[in-house]
Amino acid sequence: MPSEAVDLTGKHAVVTGGARGIGLAIAGALMDRGARVSIVSRSVLSLTGGDGSPVPFRAEADVTDEAQIAHAFNACRQAQGPIDILVNNSGIAESAPLIRTGRAMWDRIIATNLTGTFLCTREAAEDMIVAKWGRVVNVASTAGLGGAPYIAAYCASKHGVVGFTRAIAAEFDGTGITVNAICPGYTETDMMRQAIANITRLTGVSEDDARGRLAQSNPEGRIATAEEVAQGVVELIGSSRNGVALVVPGFAVA
Ligand code: NDP
Repeated sequence: MPSEAVDLTGKHAVVTGGARGIGLAIAGALMDRGARVSIVSRSVLSLTGGDGSPVPFRAEADVTDEAQIAHAFNACRQAQGPIDILVNNSGIAESAPLIRTGRAMWDRIIATNLTGTFLCTREAAEDMIVAKWGRVVNVASTAGLGGAPYIAAYCASKHGVVGFTRAIAAEFDGTGITVNAICPGYTETDMMRQAIANITRLTGVSEDDARGRLAQSNPEGRIATAEEVAQGVVELIGSSRNGVALVVPGFAVA
């Protein structure tokens, strides 16, 4: 179903890391389609509703912390009802050659990107099982489908997210709950700007050259926007597809 036709009126969607970047675009797109949105993240909310538009509920949690997740998701339930939709968007990226990838960096990336996705999905799944309906979309990456240099921990975490998605999709098959992944290439957010800063610092190339290299490595040879990632998320939520990894730009199924 095209994203414009998706009606989420009456649905409660939790978006992790929804206060900025891709998560902010996803939260906005879900609200535009009528969902009640709750945001779970560590930082201050940027969606203010100052123009009279609905404001998402916000609960603070670090997605690596099981107790904080339980507390935050319960606060979301109390404020907006059982959880129908979960978008696991929270994530971090760091790069280093293998021999300079320290254990602490590895653990941090796996804990946030992979373990956080597992913990939040398990928490929200209880409501979906009761309702016999639910949508989980995991924000993975093209780095979850193929390898790239200097991002072993990030690649491993995102391959893990895609594998987790496929496993849970199989487990829930036929229950009314679907679990899919969206796999953006480089997308215009703080995370990508940091990647460009790292490349210019480490290699001495200009910012434009670094940006061009990242664009070239993306599907369609261009940088994605947070809004088109959000569009893909809405399309997955509006469809009955299960266990799919949708690549952005282009919306090809991997
Ligand atoms: P940003 O750095 O702009 O945003 C990351 C978000 O994750 C923030 O909202 C942050 O919220 C949240 N977050 C990070 N760590 C935690 C934590 N421990 N607990 C709770 N929330 C956390 O990045 P993007 O918007 O670019 O990234 C969003 C997702 O998209 C990530 O999973 C990323 O891997 C993925 N992605 C991004 C791409 C890109 O090029 N930008 C490409 C492919 C995938 P807060 O700090 O407030 O907690």
